[in-house]
Amino acid sequence: MTSVIERLRGDTPVFSVEFFPPRDEADEAVLWRAIRELEQLDPAYMSITYGAGGSSRDGTIRSIARVATETTLVPMAHLTAVNHSVAELRNVIGWYAAVGVRNILALRGDPPGDPYGEWIPHPEGLGFAEELVDLVRSLGDFCVGVSAFPYGHPRSPDLDTDTRYLVRKFNAGADFGIAQLFFEADDFLRLRDRVAAAGCDKLLIPGIMPLTTPRTLHKTIELSGVDAPRALLDRLEPLSGDAKAFRAEGLDAVTELCERLLAEGVPALHFYTFNRSKATRELVGRLGLVPARA
Ligand SMILES: Cc1cc2nc3c(=O)[nH]c(=O)nc-3n(C[C@H](O)[C@H](O)[C@H](O)COP(=O)(O)OP(=O)(O)OC[C@H]3O[C@@H](n4cnc5c(N)ncnc54)[C@H](O)[C@@H]3O)c2cc1C
Repeated sequence: MTSVIERLRGDTPVFSVEFFPPRDEADEAVLWRAIRELEQLDPAYMSITYGAGGSSRDGTIRSIARVATETTLVPMAHLTAVNHSVAELRNVIGWYAAVGVRNILALRGDPPGDPYGEWIPHPEGLGFAEELVDLVRSLGDFCVGVSAFPYGHPRSPDLDTDTRYLVRKFNAGADFGIAQLFFEADDFLRLRDRVAAAGCDKLLIPGIMPLTTPRTLHKTIELSGVDAPRALLDRLEPLSGDAKAFRAEGLDAVTELCERLLAEGVPALHFYTFNRSKATRELVGRLGLVPARA
């Protein structure tokens, strides 16, 4: 099984795609349509998120197993420490290995129900992602990714502390990091500089949200933890009543962001798909990230 890091170390930049687990059969059909459409474009890897609430965890495990056995894609499973004892985490990791998933994005996760509520670790569980990286590493030959935050994690007191803990995750054995959503290339590049200045040369991949609707813009604001820059709002807000115009301008803005990141030498772009393929296909086509045969 190819590892994510092998696919990131090629001569040319690549792209990857993120999905969330289906909740029902209708969802599952939508997810699989998107997976099949994107498979044709040979993404470096695909990932499926791990639900914080519990209910979608089986969906993650089922879907990633199916990707591993029925597609040509390199699968990466997200895993969080939320509400899991170490014994349960070992089970999930063992199960991932058993179905052929050798790439894991190791996350701490948020308190269920209220992401900003107090983080209370499971009494027999783990406190931070760093410990999960360590656990995954101790259980086999896994390629491990971690999260990174261009504006700092919302709970971090300052950027220096945030960088220090990120570097600890790399030192614990993480191979690469995927950055939370951000608005301007410089926001990501400053994160990359902070990590390099701390003496760490691990790869950082920008997370990219195709801005197709006002909802995706609001989701980006929510996940990034900062307000969108005035210039972007001035560009998109006047179009919020015109779906077609908003989508066109939003995808132009994201294309410009990605072009700048590629010019700055990022090895890959990680797209949030929301289980749809159209916008990602359009963007990777514009950016020349699609193999000639696709
Ligand atoms: C690319 C990406 C994918 C994601 N996928 C999912 C998903 O599938 N499911 C899901 O539920 N959530 C997901 N999340 C959200 C993530 O779970 C939350 O952001 C969560 O709040 C933090 O997880 P973490 O792994 O960054 O935690 P950590 O790295 O453990 O950090 C949490 C906080 O603790 C601090 N910290 C870290 N280590 C230490 C330490 N040793 N001592 C003291 N403080 C420390 C950090 O600075 C930070 O403030 C994802 C986020 C990203 C960026």
